[in-house]
Amino acid sequence: MIRTMLFAAATFGIATAASAQSYEDLLAVGEATTKQNNMNAPFVEPSSITAMTDPSTWPKFQNRAPADRSPEDKASKLITMGTGTPTASTFRFGPAMALIVNGYPYFIDCGEGWWRAVNRSTLTQGGLDLTNILTVGNAKYMFLTHLHEDHTVGLPSFILSPYKFGSTTDKVIFGPPGTEGLIQGIIEGWSLDRQEMVQGSTHQSPQGSNATVGEVDFDIRAPGPIFEDDNVKVEAFPTEHGSLGHTLAFRFTTKPDGRIIAFGGDGHYSKGLVQAAKDADILVIEGITRKNIKYASWGGDTVEEKVKTISAYHMFPSDMKKVQDESGVKTIVMVHEQNFNAPEDFSRTGLRDEMREAGVQNIFSAIDGDMY
Ligand SMILES: [Zn+2]
Ligand SMILES: [Zn+2]
Repeated sequence: MIRTMLFAAATFGIATAASAQSYEDLLAVGEATTKQNNMNAPFVEPSSITAMTDPSTWPKFQNRAPADRSPEDKASKLITMGTGTPTASTFRFGPAMALIVNGYPYFIDCGEGWWRAVNRSTLTQGGLDLTNILTVGNAKYMFLTHLHEDHTVGLPSFILSPYKFGSTTDKVIFGPPGTEGLIQGIIEGWSLDRQEMVQGSTHQSPQGSNATVGEVDFDIRAPGPIFEDDNVKVEAFPTEHGSLGHTLAFRFTTKPDGRIIAFGGDGHYSKGLVQAAKDADILVIEGITRKNIKYASWGGDTVEEKVKTISAYHMFPSDMKKVQDESGVKTIVMVHEQNFNAPEDFSRTGLRDEMREAGVQNIFSAIDGDMY
């Protein structure tokens, strides 16, 4: 019975998108499934709130199904495969996006559970043929906004898992300085596994386990084009994210249908981020609560300490408003949410609502498997 209701909810979500194009209508796609409350049982309330148990990770607050909010007249699609943060949540994979253009995927960020996030997205979106798009052989291009662990810990899976299932595609990974060392570390670190696949009983071609860093003729301090093929043009812009020296936003222009989709990674307001999102259709970006910052599970012991530390790293609502006002970006797809609150006042859409109260318009709170 429960299973039947779940499928009905998913079907409703997809069917609605075809005729719904206003912001309010698109919000309703997905909200309609909230009342299903389908992941609440069993649920054991933790004895204390820790980095492993904050309320944003509780099953009872996760209750909506993935939605298709993509424009019906555009063939290029964005899938938010993983929308998590370093906080341990079994309902959000680590940061992982896929932009699909002409039936070919370009991956942005590679967080925890990347390989499983591909599976989940394939099975929750029927709007395009993901079974034949998200194939092992098509795992080739990866764009890393920055090298924090939560955005890169899926790289061993990206490099090695398709290979185990027969892919001979060399991977090409674009990212800030340090990317090449990270790739080399993975290839060397898993050399035992790679060699066994080549010399053991399965005799895989060693080629498919390789990855190289993308040719980035790019001054990290200045924006510029980094990649172009028949489907997309990609430009990179420097952003600001704590004391991490090299962080990037990517601006994708899709050639067949002219969408501009920017991926901001992590960070607060910056000129580079505004440039990346200038008049874009979508900015995929993080967000963090200011109103409930005292409940943050990191950043210091007092509210003052938390505000000081966290504002150097992340996007408060006032910053988000500034980015939207200066860039003119039409739609914001919020991922990597830090929606802290006390359990008794927790709302799944609390951070989105706080952003709207700050004047941010057309902002969605994305979950894993949504399509935009
Ligand atoms: Zn992050
Ligand atoms: Zn980060």
